[in-house]
Amino acid sequence: MNPGARLVVLGKQGAGKGTQAVRLSRHYVVPHVATGDTFRAAVRSGSEFGQKARKFLDAGELVPDEIVIGMVQERLTRSDTTHRGFILDGFPRTVHQADALIDFLSPVTLDLAINLEVDTEHVLSRLAGRRVCADCGANYSVVDNPPRVPGICDVCGGDVVQRDDDTEAAIHRRLELYERETSPLIMWFDERDLLTSVDGMGTPDEVTERLVQAVDGRKRRPPALA
Ligand code: ADP
Ligand code: ZN
Repeated sequence: MNPGARLVVLGKQGAGKGTQAVRLSRHYVVPHVATGDTFRAAVRSGSEFGQKARKFLDAGELVPDEIVIGMVQERLTRSDTTHRGFILDGFPRTVHQADALIDFLSPVTLDLAINLEVDTEHVLSRLAGRRVCADCGANYSVVDNPPRVPGICDVCGGDVVQRDDDTEAAIHRRLELYERETSPLIMWFDERDLLTSVDGMGTPDEVTERLVQAVDGRKRRPPALA
């Protein structure tokens, strides 16, 4: 049995983080922990928490650190993730979140943070084609990965729609926040010898192959001397 993995996937909006994180979670047989999916599910449920989160999501703003950190910490202390690991998608997104992550995982550490690299020109066209199931949250792309029947989810038969935060204004704001709040994490993980960068261009299969090679190469490396 494959030994699991503890990974963070970093990348701009539209870099393919979500798609690749789902594939990595199947490959390593570990839960996919996607904060954006959790927030969108809360919004769909109409709960009070969801109504609060919706204001941030629709505007492309970050949900406050205290809320996100508490949510992820709770998820990463359940037995499935403590035993086999996890693929974190969309967290951490600020240095404060990264500090909190390392703290609450301790004494266990991450295997790796992967920076999935795609230039801004490409992410903009990918975001324009991105679609999501309004019922179950499955991701699609009108270009690369359309549902079998246009507008209908392959998984649950729900309506496949554009995300409420894939408007021009919210996309602009999210990319701005990515540069300001999240891109410093690339250095942050690199300084801790936890970073690898992977080219996110090419077919989804090509990118998955590169990611698996990067992760397996890393796991074979002998532990660093203290
Ligand atoms: P994208 O990468 O396209 O922005 P996500 O699904 O990862 O999409 O996130 C959607 C939204 O959920 C974000 O714009 C933000 O409002 C909220 N969110 C997700 N993860 C975090 C986080 N770690 N910290 C703060 N807000 C978050
Ligand atoms: Zn669906």
